[in-house]
Amino acid sequence: MQKICFDKDKWFLETPFPGVRRCKRDLFFIQKEIFKKRTKFQEVFIFSTPGFGKILTLDGIIQFSQLDEANYHETMAHTALFTHNFPKKVLIIGGGDGGVLREVCKHKEVELIHLVEIDKEIPSLCQKYLSFVSNGAFKDRRLNLFFEDGAKFLEDKKYFYDVIMVDSTDPVGPGKALFEAPFYNKVYNALSKDGLAIFQAGPFLDLNTVIKKSVQILKKLFKYVCFLRFPMPSYSCGCEYCFILSSKKYNPLKISKKILEERYKTRLKNPLNLKYYTPSIHLASLVIPPLWQI
Ligand code: SAM
Repeated sequence: MQKICFDKDKWFLETPFPGVRRCKRDLFFIQKEIFKKRTKFQEVFIFSTPGFGKILTLDGIIQFSQLDEANYHETMAHTALFTHNFPKKVLIIGGGDGGVLREVCKHKEVELIHLVEIDKEIPSLCQKYLSFVSNGAFKDRRLNLFFEDGAKFLEDKKYFYDVIMVDSTDPVGPGKALFEAPFYNKVYNALSKDGLAIFQAGPFLDLNTVIKKSVQILKKLFKYVCFLRFPMPSYSCGCEYCFILSSKKYNPLKISKKILEERYKTRLKNPLNLKYYTPSIHLASLVIPPLWQI
């Protein structure tokens, strides 16, 4: 077998999770090591790179890069919130870096935000070393922070949230339970009658190994289940990334551009400060090639 040699102090090699993506791996040049520590839950590594800027990895897997974090965080927050007629109560599960929170806080119509993060150290480390991600959002007076397992947190929540956003790690380690049927059931039960949920699902490269299983379970629960696709050059060899939007009442595929434009203009504090999301991008992200239809 041919060996590839590289200096581990200079290059970061992303870890594939078991059984998935054994054929390709990403390598990032480490310009500067910023922070490294094992918390109670995971191995945290923060470093800077040429091109991608600052990067956070957990257990060897990229969580975001400065270059493309807006694609992920804006897509998750705005597509979900603009699909709902009047989202007042929002729950973010995971998302301790504060990126999704930063985007949710831009919505005037949202009255209450709960964020449940299993690892207490992530919000403080991200605010210290990667402050551009939350950009002050942890100070929003609508926010309540909880440090516990997202699945446990939902146990006693019934018909409460309008929108739930699952911004978890991949289905290994503490994030594993957030990709399984008991968790999806709890999300469904915690949503109000017209509630909807958005889940980070992985790259389309993992359609057969990870994403299909989630969709099969969600389709049994929700009236509408659809994919959103968007580019994430820093993730999984640059493959297009997938969120699953699941809704009890509103059909995400039937929302018109006119309604989205109206909501975009009236609900956001400052629509022009977004980097990625627009109503046209929203509609484009719902167009899925035949290869990925399920
Ligand atoms: N954008 C990211 C990605 O690509 O996967 C996710 C970012 S965010 C840092 C993921 C967060 O989910 C981590 O901070 C992790 O601690 C948290 N997390 C993992 N499992 C969890 C669980 N069971 N309950 C609550 N939070 C969890």
